[in-house]
Amino acid sequence: MLGLLRKHGPLSRGELGKRCGLSRTTLYDILAELVATGAVVTATSQEAPRGRGRPAETLTLNPDAGQAIGIDFARRALHVAAVNLAHEVVGSASEPHDAGLPWKERVELAVRLVGSLTGTRTGAGALRLGALDAIGVGVVGVVGSQHAGDEEAAPHPVQVLLRERFGVPVLLDNNTRLAALGESIWGAAAGGQDVLYLRLSHGVGGGLVVGGSLHRGAYGLSGEFGHITVEPGGARCDCGGTGCLETVASIRAVLDAFRAAGGRAADVAELVKAVRAGDRTALTLLDGVGARIGEVLAALCNAIGPSVIVIGGELAETGPALVEPIERALHDHVMPVSRHRVSLRRATLGEVAGALGGIALVLHESPLLSRYPAGPDLAEDPIPDKESR
Ligand SMILES: [Zn+2]
Repeated sequence: MLGLLRKHGPLSRGELGKRCGLSRTTLYDILAELVATGAVVTATSQEAPRGRGRPAETLTLNPDAGQAIGIDFARRALHVAAVNLAHEVVGSASEPHDAGLPWKERVELAVRLVGSLTGTRTGAGALRLGALDAIGVGVVGVVGSQHAGDEEAAPHPVQVLLRERFGVPVLLDNNTRLAALGESIWGAAAGGQDVLYLRLSHGVGGGLVVGGSLHRGAYGLSGEFGHITVEPGGARCDCGGTGCLETVASIRAVLDAFRAAGGRAADVAELVKAVRAGDRTALTLLDGVGARIGEVLAALCNAIGPSVIVIGGELAETGPALVEPIERALHDHVMPVSRHRVSLRRATLGEVAGALGGIALVLHESPLLSRYPAGPDLAEDPIPDKESR
C-alpha cells in the first residue's frame, strides 16, 4: 500500500484495490491500520464529479510519518535519529550507559529513545512510525559479510531484536564507518563524493566514502586507520600489533603521554582546558601527535585521493593545537600536486554522526525507496517486509 501511494500519489480505496488485487476486506483492514498508525491520511477529493454520489475519499502518505531510523550502539552510549518521508531529520536523542549493558536492554533503551522522538514536536513535525521503511544500525567492531551477500552469516543479535520490535528490515554497519557516511551527507563533507573520515576517540578509526558510496572492503575492515604502524617496534596495541597510530593518538595514549610528561588531566575536557590556558607540555605533545596523524593522512591521501578529510572524535576538541600540526604534516608529506586540492575539516555532526549515517544507509540501500533517485522501483511488487501489516 505504502509503495503504491509513494509511486502514484493520492488514490481512492477503489483505485488501490484495483492495483493491489487484494480482497476488499483485507484491503480495508490494512488501510484502517495504516490510518490508525498515522502512516496514511485520508482526504476528500476536490475533483470528484458532481451528481455522482458523495465525493471519493482518497488516501495519501502522511508527510509527518517517519521513514527511517538510525541507531548507533556505541560502546558506552546510544544515539538515535529519524527522518520523515521528505528525508528531513526530525529529531535525535542520546543516552549514556554502562559498557557491559546486554543487547536486550540496549534495544529497550533504543525503543524508549525512539519513542521520545515521536513525542517531540519539531519544525518538521512530530514523528509517527507507521510508515517506517527500515532501521540503519551502527555497532562497534567488524561488520562486513552481511553486505557481501553471505547467506550463511548469522544476523547480529541487535538485528534480530530490532526486527522483532519494529517489524522492518534492519541494516547494519560499523558505527565509525557510518559516522563517515553521515558526515559526507549531512555534515562537514556534505556533498563530497570522496571523503576520508578519521575519528580520534577511545579508539582511532575512520571510514572512507569513495565515489559517493561507503567503502567496506572485502571483509568489512575498511577504515581501520588506527592500526597503521607509525612506530615500528613501538607500544603494544589492543589489535595485537605494535606501534599502531592508536597507541599514539587515542584518548588514553594522549592522556598517558601528557601525565608522563608532567601534565595533569583526568580526561579530554581537562586536556582541552590545559591547551586553552597555553600549557606548553600539552601544546608540545599535541604537536607531535598531530604530526604522526598528518603523516598517516598524507599516505592515505596519496592512496585514495579524497577531496575532503574530516577529523572527528573527542580529541578533535583540542582544536588548532592538534589540527594545525596535522595540517602541516599533511602538507609536507602529501604529493605536491594534491596539496591544495584536499580540504581538512573538523567534524560537525557530533555524537549523532553514526545514527545519521545509519539513516543514510537506509536511504541508499533500501529497495523500498522508490523516491530515492538511484534506488530500484519495487512499488508495483508486493512488499514482503510489510505483508503482515
Ligand atoms: Zn593496532
